[in-house]
Amino acid sequence: MPGHAVEIRGLRKVYAAQGAEPPKVALDGLDLAIPEGSIFGLLGPNGAGKSTTINILAGLTVKSAGSVRIWGFDQDANPRQSRAAIGVVPQELNIDPFFSPRAALEVQAGLYGVPKRLRRTDEILARVGLADKADAYARQLSGGMKRRFLIAKALVHNPPVLVLDEPTAGVDIELRRMLWDYVRELNGQGATIILTTHYLEEAEAMCDRIGIINHGRLIAEEATPDLIARMDRKALVITPAAPVAALPPAPEGVEAELRPDGRLAFAYHRSRMPADAVLDAVRAAGISIRDVATEEPHLEDVFVELTTSRPAA
Ligand code: ADP
Repeated sequence: MPGHAVEIRGLRKVYAAQGAEPPKVALDGLDLAIPEGSIFGLLGPNGAGKSTTINILAGLTVKSAGSVRIWGFDQDANPRQSRAAIGVVPQELNIDPFFSPRAALEVQAGLYGVPKRLRRTDEILARVGLADKADAYARQLSGGMKRRFLIAKALVHNPPVLVLDEPTAGVDIELRRMLWDYVRELNGQGATIILTTHYLEEAEAMCDRIGIINHGRLIAEEATPDLIARMDRKALVITPAAPVAALPPAPEGVEAELRPDGRLAFAYHRSRMPADAVLDAVRAAGISIRDVATEEPHLEDVFVELTTSRPAA
C-alpha cells in the first residue's frame, strides 16, 4: 500500500518552440500527492496544465523534469509497472466504429499484455452496464454507452488508479448523475479516482479532495468542504446615504472594508450567516443605506485570490 496513489514532485513540462511561438512552460514545478482511495478533482482555468499533467500520467507526454510515482512505481525507474497501475478515460469519444465492445476490450487487453486466462472482459462489460451490448457495433452505442465503454476500456488491466478527463463534458444531467454513481461505485470497490472537470458542481458532488492548478503550479489542495467554505464567501456592498468616516462594528465572522469609493463591503459566509444579519449590523451602527449590491464569488475569483496571495517565486 503506497499511501499515495500518485506522487508528483517538481514536475516541469516545456513545450518546444514552434515557428514564431516561443517555448511554452506548461508545468512549472508541480507538486501533487493524491491519497490512495480518494476521488480527487483536478481543477484549474483553461491552459493551467491539467491535460499536460494527465497526459504525463498516462505516458502520452514526456515530462521535461521532475518525478512521477504511480502506485509507488517511479515512471522512469519502473515504466511498465507505473503504466500498468493507471487507466485513463479520455475526453473524446473516439471509438473504432466496427469493433464490438467485447472485441475492442480483448484488443486492449492484448495491448496491455493481460494473459487470456486473466482477462475479465465480460465481467467488466457487466460492471459498466454494457453486458447486453457486448456484441453490438460500437457505432450503435449511445453517447452514454460510449462513455461507459471508454471507462471499461480503461479498466481492462485492472488499474488501481483511474483518471477521468472531463468525464461529463457535454453530457446531459441524467447521464451525468449515472456516471457519478458509477464512479462512486468504482471508488467504493477500491479504485483511486482522479478527475478533471470544468463543473464546480461536479467537483463538489464527487470529489473528497480538490487540487487547483494555475500557471502550471498547484495553488491549492484541500478537502472539498474546506475549499467550498472559501467559495461560499459572498460580499454585500453598501453605498451609505452619507459618507462614513470609519467602519461600523461588523458581526463576528464578517470582514468589513471601507473602499476608496466610499462604499462599505462586508464579506461573509452565506452558508453561516443570513444577509439580514449584516444589514442589521449596518443599520444598528446608524448608517442609512442608499443602495446594496452583492458580489458573488466565482471559481475564477478564488484563482485570482490564491494566485495573488502566493509569494512570487
Ligand atoms: P489545461 O488542460 O489546464 O487547459 P494544458 O495542459 O492543455 O492546460 O495546457 C497548458 C499550457 O501548455 C497552455 O498554455 C497550452 O497552450 C500549452 N500547451 C499544451 N499543449 C501544447 C503543445 N502540444 N504544444 C505547445 N503548447 C502546448
